[in-house]
Amino acid sequence: MTMIYNARWVLPVATAPIEHGAIAIDGPRIAAVGPQSVICGRFPSASTHDFKNSAIIPGLVNTHTHLELTAMRGYLEQEESDFFAWLRKLTRARLEQMTADDIQVSATWGACEAVRAGITSVGDASDSALLSMRAIQEVGMRGVVFQESFGPDARLVAENFDRLKSKVGELREVESALVRTGISPHAPYSVCGPQLELIADYALSERLPLMMHAAESAAEEMFVRDGCGIFADGLKNRNIEWTTPGVSTLQHLKQRGILETQPLLAHCIRVDENDLVALHETNSKVAHCPKSNAKLGHGRAPLAKFIDRGIAVGLGSDSVASNNTSDILEEARFAALVARADRQVSAGEVFTTATIAGARCLGLGGVVGELTEGAGLRSIVDFGVCFLRPGCIDDSRSGQGSLSGRQSGEC
Ligand SMILES: [Zn+2]
Repeated sequence: MTMIYNARWVLPVATAPIEHGAIAIDGPRIAAVGPQSVICGRFPSASTHDFKNSAIIPGLVNTHTHLELTAMRGYLEQEESDFFAWLRKLTRARLEQMTADDIQVSATWGACEAVRAGITSVGDASDSALLSMRAIQEVGMRGVVFQESFGPDARLVAENFDRLKSKVGELREVESALVRTGISPHAPYSVCGPQLELIADYALSERLPLMMHAAESAAEEMFVRDGCGIFADGLKNRNIEWTTPGVSTLQHLKQRGILETQPLLAHCIRVDENDLVALHETNSKVAHCPKSNAKLGHGRAPLAKFIDRGIAVGLGSDSVASNNTSDILEEARFAALVARADRQVSAGEVFTTATIAGARCLGLGGVVGELTEGAGLRSIVDFGVCFLRPGCIDDSRSGQGSLSGRQSGEC
């Protein structure tokens, strides 16, 4: 049976906003999008539900998160002024204190929060990607789960690479049409050059999407360009030899073949003119995480330049350990305001980044992030749900008409 949903606004994203708009749903798919008068005329026998003074928008896309770290909300705030100490405490807690059950619960909790914030698709990076994949599948979201790989020590490249391939094999056995497998060499300070090259070749040969943290902190820049600072000291203390690239992070990733994979790069704060050219020429994508960048004091990525250069950019919350919320609408608002130091980035531009552009960053262009005829019902959320505060569950507002997640049928 066809259902028509009316609202004061319908925002298809791929086309102009429609005031007093409607969408018609037939089974699991959108049958039509347009003005209420037109849609009601096309489907005269359809049942109608009116969301009144709301907006119907596509499911939001979170291009960069770590759902497994949801349990660490607020846990690392004492270390925020020292990125190395922050990473060390996170890693120790993750490896020494969290059991597999803890990680599974943490990831599922994060996925539930994301859905409540209107997010229907995620790019999730995890060392326990199998658990994250199960969590995302159980909650009914769509996305890519990137299995992380670590390894600063060139002597251990073969061992680390075998571990990555083994984990990818496990993921591929349980991946589905909705949740796909990707790989993620963690960061330039945690993966050595030879391991980056192997992983880049592997991504290309296996057609695996690749995500990586890049150009995030001053400490990383100092390490990659000059071979000094807290990351260099950390490796020296572990008797690990490291060859300093002596260039920017983006040029380092280009030299090691990572940019050939058209990667999704999280952060990209410390990028110069040559780096922007490299991003554009290689069709690399950016997961822009303005709140995480600000909370950890890393600085501000040039969102306006990404948009103006035609570089694909989506929004990411990063983990709630460096954000406190997983809320892409809030991220979009923050992104627009911060970017106005460069130019008047519009609400429409960041909303595009939060939806259709984010979908393209995850290889989901044409599938989610827009309201078009033939698209899956899973791509629609009630705007009211987006106003709920993730992490502050308010059951008095539950059941307010979310059309996302499991209620949305099979597609
Ligand atoms: Zn991250």
